[in-house]
Amino acid sequence: MASSEATPHAAAAVLDHYIAGRRVAPAGSRGAAVIAPSTGQVSARVPLAGAGEVAAAVAAAAAALPGWSAAPPLRRARVLQRFRELLERHRDDLARIITREHGKVLDDARGEVVRGTEVVEFACGIPHLLKGEHSAEIGAGVDSWSLRQPVGVCAGITPFNFPVMVPMWMFPVALACGNTFVLKPSERDPSASLFVADLLAEAGLPPGVFNVVHGDKETVDALLDDPRVAAVSFVGSTPVAEAIYTVGSAAGKRVQALGGAKNHLVVMPDADLDQAVDALVGAAYGSAGERCMAISVAVAVGGIADELVARLAERARTLKVGPGLEPGMEMGPLVTAAHRDRVSGYVATGVAEGAQLVVDGRGLQVAGHPDGFFLGGCLFDHVKPAMRIYREEIFGPVLCVVRVPDFAAAVDLVNRHEFANGTAIFTRSGHAAREFAARIEVGMVGINVPIPVPMAFHSFGGWKRSLFGDHAVHGPEGVRFYTRLKTVTSRWPDDPPGGASFVMPTH
Ligand code: NAD
Repeated sequence: MASSEATPHAAAAVLDHYIAGRRVAPAGSRGAAVIAPSTGQVSARVPLAGAGEVAAAVAAAAAALPGWSAAPPLRRARVLQRFRELLERHRDDLARIITREHGKVLDDARGEVVRGTEVVEFACGIPHLLKGEHSAEIGAGVDSWSLRQPVGVCAGITPFNFPVMVPMWMFPVALACGNTFVLKPSERDPSASLFVADLLAEAGLPPGVFNVVHGDKETVDALLDDPRVAAVSFVGSTPVAEAIYTVGSAAGKRVQALGGAKNHLVVMPDADLDQAVDALVGAAYGSAGERCMAISVAVAVGGIADELVARLAERARTLKVGPGLEPGMEMGPLVTAAHRDRVSGYVATGVAEGAQLVVDGRGLQVAGHPDGFFLGGCLFDHVKPAMRIYREEIFGPVLCVVRVPDFAAAVDLVNRHEFANGTAIFTRSGHAAREFAARIEVGMVGINVPIPVPMAFHSFGGWKRSLFGDHAVHGPEGVRFYTRLKTVTSRWPDDPPGGASFVMPTH
């Protein structure tokens, strides 16, 4: 939680919600501190909305729905085209907001904005994506066509680790399809969502089509309780994803809930080791490991382990760790002190479990930033599948090396894990790569690509306990999630009535 009542923050600015096209001061007194992770200082106070504020946001979205859903898709796309231009113009402003509140290095934050903008680009093609299908003469004088219509008021509940990109996996597609939206961003880095809401308004989005309520579990519960919310998109940790999927679908809502991850990168004995090491270091320690597609397990196959671990150790020890706004940094701080301590706790657990701690990033001091939530890169070797550091998501800069004898054992290891978001193989063998892609039970697979995040025009989503629900986000799956299929069968007879029929027609 961002809440830190012990930290003095009376002077910090209180953020607004964004409802019905304007910023709205919080009505309740519940709130939490937003803390800059590189300094440990309170930068703002985020309100935690209660049921009344949620009801107001949902009412605004419901009121805007008839007009927006009836607008021609081309007109909706034009608003998104202007939004895309504004995102490009303000890329650096947004990136700075991300880095200040999340901690990731500025170039990485820019990359996040670009990847989010690509979903907006995809959504601009919505007139094409909603074209539907048509069959003439399915029977004598009978035509049939299918169309996709908006679902209604949609809610998005998003995690701290991509405060711009993850909401943009959702709302550009939802809005393009004709829905209205209430976003509940992470309370740890909430400011970017308000900036985005202002850009949408500047792009010409009518009031009420996009709303932001800040908050926590109580806020989310109010969204799930509201019968006017027809669909819920969630991205966050697995226990919360599962709970939201269970409660939301029991209430008759459409739910897609993306959860946690433990992504493995398999290094085959024939892999180009330079490439594999570069890939592992970037994918394990980039964004301090706080990515759902971060690689947290390196699976060393056959005799490659000793050299792989030696090279990884050299790189992990020399990572440039510091404030994300400072040029040249490779890794920023963790998001909160509590999370930094939790990740450090896992490192202690790994040692107690008998894994070999090759690089220990605990105790790292960053000059001039004694109160930042920094942790250096950590590397474990000889990690076993029964250990907690292998089974659980750590979500920090901790890479675990598991040694296996052969390809079959690597595939078996990956397939046994409860998380199945992303995985990758590094090899020079086309056969091994092809077998891996076919046999692995994971939603997103990389072949000599460490973080195989699908582009906006494909869809993003894991398997097993990394995604609850039937639909991945953005791309074609996103369009399906945010629309309902309707099939129309039509006949315009001009012959006299032939009498009632009591049997199924056989043409
Ligand atoms: P989180 O689950 O703590 O919070 C996510 C959202 O849910 C936030 O908006 C939060 O306010 C809300 N929330 C928290 N507890 C809740 C509760 N009990 N009931 C209802 N709502 C609640 O996750 P986080 O720490 O913000 O983000 C990190 C997690 O997100 C990691 O597990 C990571 O793997 C996951 N993640 C997954 C993906 C993916 O695509 N699968 C992408 C990004 C992040």
